Amino acid sequence: MTVQKITIAIDGFSSTGKSTIAKQLAKHLGYIYVDTGAMYRAVTLFTMQKSLIDKEHFDVLGLVTKLNDIEISFKFNPELGFAEVYLNGENIEKEIRTLEVSSFVSKVAAIPEVRYQLVKQQQQMGKGKGVVMDGRDIGTVVFPHAELKLFMTASAEKRATRRFDELIGRGDVVTYEDVLRNVQERDYIDSHREDSPLRKAEDAIEIDNSDLTLEEQFEKVLQLAQDTLD
Ligand code: C5P
Repeated sequence: MTVQKITIAIDGFSSTGKSTIAKQLAKHLGYIYVDTGAMYRAVTLFTMQKSLIDKEHFDVLGLVTKLNDIEISFKFNPELGFAEVYLNGENIEKEIRTLEVSSFVSKVAAIPEVRYQLVKQQQQMGKGKGVVMDGRDIGTVVFPHAELKLFMTASAEKRATRRFDELIGRGDVVTYEDVLRNVQERDYIDSHREDSPLRKAEDAIEIDNSDLTLEEQFEKVLQLAQDTLD
């Protein structure tokens, strides 16, 4: 007997808890979890390391000509229970979560050549199904035929509070206002870029989790996954 596997695409605005629900689902179903935001963050870190981006300038051509020097991979960390992201063999899981990387990532993610490379890799990772992938264009571009598509939303203030608590919890020095501004800026750039803008796929199910507990959200989403599998 073969067990049917599906593709689950989770898109939505910044800090809507996409990765939390994606990790929970993947663990429960025994699926692979792919955090595509981590891949865009990895390219952004590379761009910063090569001094191709700062507050005043962004050498897009310089980045595009170096894209072949970027190798992104994921390695499962059994202690954490999920895969961590590596850039050219180096674990960069912590470095990519800073507010500085967040402040540049949407500009890097708007470059079509960057998207082309990463989308190709994402499609390869999910080709066997049994995957939960989260991002901004998974249900619209990467896997337009995914069997289950979710679109996560929550108020900007709720989202900024979550991200702020997360950064403070890690020991980062940030203000709530800066985090809120970053969340709003990224949403704006991600929704207005020309290539693969963030939007809800027509067949995606919208979940506003502003007032849902993690348990309530998980129950709801798991039910949707099980209904799709039945
Ligand atoms: O999901 P996360 O907040 O880590 O994503 C960081 C950024 O990467 C997003 O704000 C967006 O600019 C970009 N991104 C994207 N397409 C994806 C995933 C992330 O453009 N599929």
